[in-house]
Amino acid sequence: MNSHDVITSENDPFDPEILGFDPEQVRRKYIEERAKRLREDGNDQYVEVAGQHAQYETDPHVESGFSRAPINEALDVIILGGGISGLVTAARLQQAGVYDVRIIDKAGDFGGVWYWNRYPGAQCDTESYIYMPLLEETGYIPTERYAHQPEIYAHLQRIGKQFDLYDKACFQTQVTAMHWSDESARWTVNTDRDDVFSARFVIMSSGPLHRPKLPAIEGIDTFKGQSFHTSRWDFAYTGGDSSGGLTGLADKRVGVVGTGATGVQVVPNVAPYAQQLYLFQRTPAPVDERNNKPTDEAWAKSLKPGWQAERDENFCSIMAGLPVTQDLVNDKWTDFFKLAFEILDTGDVEGVSPARLALAREVADYRKGHQIRTRVARLVDDRKTAEGLKHWYGQWCKRPAFHDEYLQAFNRPNVTLVDTAGKGIERVTENAVVVNGSAYEVDCLIFATGFEVSTAYTRRSECEVHGRGGKTLSAHWAKGMSTFQGFLTRDFPNCFHLGLTQTGVAFNYTYTAGGQAEHVAYLISEVIRRDASSIEAEASAEAEYQRLVRVPGPMRKYQETCTPGYYNVEGKNDGESFIDNHYPEGPVPFFRMLAAWREQGDLSGVIVK
Ligand code: NDP
Repeated sequence: MNSHDVITSENDPFDPEILGFDPEQVRRKYIEERAKRLREDGNDQYVEVAGQHAQYETDPHVESGFSRAPINEALDVIILGGGISGLVTAARLQQAGVYDVRIIDKAGDFGGVWYWNRYPGAQCDTESYIYMPLLEETGYIPTERYAHQPEIYAHLQRIGKQFDLYDKACFQTQVTAMHWSDESARWTVNTDRDDVFSARFVIMSSGPLHRPKLPAIEGIDTFKGQSFHTSRWDFAYTGGDSSGGLTGLADKRVGVVGTGATGVQVVPNVAPYAQQLYLFQRTPAPVDERNNKPTDEAWAKSLKPGWQAERDENFCSIMAGLPVTQDLVNDKWTDFFKLAFEILDTGDVEGVSPARLALAREVADYRKGHQIRTRVARLVDDRKTAEGLKHWYGQWCKRPAFHDEYLQAFNRPNVTLVDTAGKGIERVTENAVVVNGSAYEVDCLIFATGFEVSTAYTRRSECEVHGRGGKTLSAHWAKGMSTFQGFLTRDFPNCFHLGLTQTGVAFNYTYTAGGQAEHVAYLISEVIRRDASSIEAEASAEAEYQRLVRVPGPMRKYQETCTPGYYNVEGKNDGESFIDNHYPEGPVPFFRMLAAWREQGDLSGVIVK
């Protein structure tokens, strides 16, 4: 570490001499680059993958024409969604003594995002030892630090098998509507396979990122080549699988649209196979080092019971800015917070004024950005391409990306960055993508354009929920979500919400999912244990919880300065984005608060009868 790396309290943390760059210039550049990307249409720039775009949602992993007899059945619990959340909840329900559970999923198997996203190079950005759930319960240790899709998918199937969830799973089945009856204290659940279930409890865990979205680019429907969304990868066309071998692309000109976490993984894994690859970029991604490595067997053998929860909580604490004494994961995610501490010249935020802490975080943000841009300049040979690949926005404006081969892919002769300078693709023709008046002919167009995040909850769940007196959840939440502790909403008894619903949002989604699963399993088992028939939020408790969560947090303010993206509803945040209205103290205090609430045992804030 040289003297420029450490800023002590005697130094001015904004001194360009010390930093190696001028923070005022960076601040100005961020504002300029953001201005290029602001647009009036916000979320409306995207189209739903339905109707004429429905083929972008078709499941390529199942045989077409599947049919089965409709099921009529009464049971205790229906879980909508067999991804991480649904599986862990089913496991926790069993541990709480509730076995009569059926998981319904439109996919052909368990796995959620890891069922759908099998694109070449698909890999988890979060360390596998904390991301892959129930490792201790299944006795499984991931083979590498950042696991690839096949291993994560197989692990989720392992959970399904170990907890006997396959027998009662309904795959390739979409729940279409749910109706509550006060008389029977049950939900009637209808599906697109004409099933009629009568369930005491329903758990909605369809996931925050599962409906693909497409940009409404002029002419997109006129394209005559092959096109698909990354979450529905067409291996029949490309050849190979998630691990490579895309021999079908040898004579193909491929266009990739999108530079989020997905695009960054797709580009280096398609580049070696395609005749030509064009990356159509609107906003560059900040791509940090990955540093993946195989699991150290000696380390794995040394782990003591309880290690996974401890590691996970340590990571989520650091990522929420809570003081900890050690960094167990110690990777590029936690790096950022260490930069902030280094600027403070202390590992402890106690006693530091809020203004100084804010300043330190701002400078740490710029420093991180500077490090990443310096990395681009070092790894990309062509100067113009390197300039185009540098991101100019705050570290948390978009999800950070990590890859050790992405930037180098642009040194290949068959890879071209088509930088749209913030404007996006102009239009698509029968055989080409047009940017700034130039047409780039392509045989195949791959949309790494992400998922619906801030559209209505029921639109993303693809089913309407009819609560007491026929009240619909879409109408009830038309002006914004309202829950008690993120799980229950008044007039929708026995219906639990999982996911990013006014909860403790952690950078490791599995942490949030695990804490929610434990809590819902407790609530349901308590209703059963008390011989009661329903549970719902008390109106006053729900209102009080709204007062708590509806205070704009620091992330809202931060996002106001950000380049558009799904974190800030494409620059049009109305206060209902997925980062808003969560437990203000963050995930670790949230789940501690729930644990204390359970410990108290009086179920305050909910009505059980
Ligand atoms: P994102 O929403 O993050 O990215 C979509 C991309 O499409 C953006 O780069 C966007 O550009 C671009 N785009 C949209 N419209 C146009 C257009 N008209 N012209 C050109 N480009 C356009 O989607 P991802 O699938 O990459 O990631 C979604 C989330 O999934 C991640 O944030 C992460 O949470 C998760 N994920 C996690 C992974 C993991 O390792 N755990 C791996 C992959 C995904 P712009 O930036 O300008 O808006």
